[in-house]
Order: sequence, then C-alpha cells, then structure tokens
Amino acid sequence: VKRDGKGGYRFFSEDLNISSARRVRMETRMRNAIANQEFVLYYQPKQDLTTGWITGMEALIRWPSDEGMITPGEFIPLAEDTGLINPLGRWILFQALQDTQIASKAVGYPLQVAVNLSMRQFQRPGLGSLIQEAIQATGIQPEQVELEITESMVAEEVEKAINTMQELRSLGVRLAIDDFGTGYSSMAYLRNFPVNTLKIDQSFVQDLVKDDSNTAIISAVIGLGKGLGMQVVAEGVETALQRKLLEEAGCHVGQGYHFSYPLPLPQLIGLLKDAQNA
Ligand code: C2E
Ligand code: CA
Ligand code: CA
Ligand code: CA
Repeated sequence: VKRDGKGGYRFFSEDLNISSARRVRMETRMRNAIANQEFVLYYQPKQDLTTGWITGMEALIRWPSDEGMITPGEFIPLAEDTGLINPLGRWILFQALQDTQIASKAVGYPLQVAVNLSMRQFQRPGLGSLIQEAIQATGIQPEQVELEITESMVAEEVEKAINTMQELRSLGVRLAIDDFGTGYSSMAYLRNFPVNTLKIDQSFVQDLVKDDSNTAIISAVIGLGKGLGMQVVAEGVETALQRKLLEEAGCHVGQGYHFSYPLPLPQLIGLLKDAQNA
C-alpha cells in the first residue's frame, strides 16, 4: 500500500495492473472497514478570496491503516468497481453533514460542506431520497450542502444527468462541477447544467507560477463561470502568488495547501476559531 504523509493528491495509476489477488484482499478489507467504521473524513477549508472568510470546507475521505493513511485515490476506484461505494457513500454523506452541524455550532455560523459523489452514486436511482434522508437526520439546511460531480459523470447520457441534477437541486442543495477543464468538453453543455459552482482543476492553478499566458487561460475559465452566474472556486492553491493572481482574475473562492491541508474535524474547528479571533 502506497502512502502520502500529507494525505496529498495522487492519481491511482496502478489501478489497471493491480493483481486480482490483491484486489480481492483489498475488497475484503474494505468491506470490514465499512462495517467497523474505520474510515474518517478530513476537511479542507475553503476561503473567500475577497473577504478572507472561511465559508466552508470539502470532505475528503481517509482510511487509516497499520501502514499509514490510505488515500482515496487508492480505494475509491475499487469501491466503485465493487459497488462498495454505495454503503461507503451513504456513510460519507451522513458523517459529513453531521460533522458540519457540529462545526457550525462551534463557530456560530452556518458552514457549507462539499461532498464528492462518485459516478456510481450519481447514476444510482434513489440518490435524491438518500440526500433528503441525510438532511432530515442531521437537521442541516439544504443550502449548506454542495455535491461535487465531475464532467465525466455528465458526459454520457447528458439528458439523464441533467434530470438527476435538477432533482438534486429541487431538494435545495447546491451542485458543483469538480475538476473543471480536465474532462473532454462538456463545455458546450455547461450552460444547460443547473450547477452553482465551478471548481477549476488544480492543474490550471499549479501552472500559475508567474503572470504569463497561464493567467490568461485561467482568467478565461473564471470569466466563463462568472458569465454563467456560477461561483468560481480554485483548488490546489499552494502559494501566495497563485492566491494573488486568482484574486486579481476575479476568482471567488480558494482551496489548497496555501490555506490549509485537509484536517480532522477537531483541528478544523480549531482553525475556524483561530480565524475568527485573528
Ligand atoms: P478531488 O475531489 O479533486 O479532491 C482534491 C484533492 O486535492 C484531495 O486529494 C486534496 O487532498 C488534494 N489537495 C488539496 N489541496 C491541494 C494542494 O494545494 N495541492 C495539491 N497537490 N493537492 C491538494 P485526496 O484527498 O487524496 O482525494 C483525491 C480524490 O479522491 C478526490 O479528488 C476525489 O475525486 C476522491 N475523493 C476524496 N474523498 C472522496 C469521497 O468522500 N467520496 C468520493 N466519491 N470521492 C472522494
Ligand atoms: Ca472534489
Ligand atoms: Ca477537484
Ligand atoms: Ca479530482
């Protein structure tokens, strides 16, 4: 099992040649881990670039193991393949909403939480009722909840995807397009998507090393999102310069190691309180 001490971002490139024995072993371990509630959610703050206010956070799953922290890039694809994403996704949703209620009470204002959905979850009938159930069980306001989907999830069967999106929006929750710019162009459809937020993929942000043509590209993407009336979030912000260039380009919200690593709930609450007292 490969690890990344920082709980950082990695693509699961070994996915295709992983041995079937190892897959079966992993699947069994994962099944047990779900039953024993071994997974934990970390939270990465999102900061309003104009006001500096922390408006919310993204829930990112972690799997602590004897060998260290297993990152989602390693087990989410397997969870998708095996269908274990359904019980896991349900747990993620309830836990994230409940934690957000706890954090909101601790800081005295309603935080927004972004929850990642996987393809299989998004395509599964009954997603709407599941979300509804989680909202009711936790007492959170629907507008505090943002569901992140990717372009590839809506690329095929666009009509069906739009129906699902509309159903979710009718519950009052927000929708975000994650990793924007990496999928092959659902750009043309973007204006038909009932989404509130555009999350610019971190690859664009990481190209921002100085004020050059990359700034023009990202400005164009930000302009596109704003033109469609969406909130624009940049992820993977690692430096003060990137933050500055994004703010100048009109980006609304930033997320990345520059602001904070993903944190366990108690540390997140600590950070939020420090930010309030600063
Ligand atoms: P994502 O949704 O695009 O999440 C952003 C990833 O970038 C996270 O990796 C985060 O830790 C990392 N990151 C944050 N700031 C920075 C930065 O400044 N620089 C760099 N280089 N990376 C940064 P993580 O947590 O390993 O998650 C990887 C992917 O796994 C996520 O990508 C998402 O697609 C998936 N994932 C994570 N949690 C969940 C979950 O609860 N459910 C589902 N379905 N997928 C999840
Ligand atoms: Ca995400
Ligand atoms: Ca992303
Ligand atoms: Ca991603």
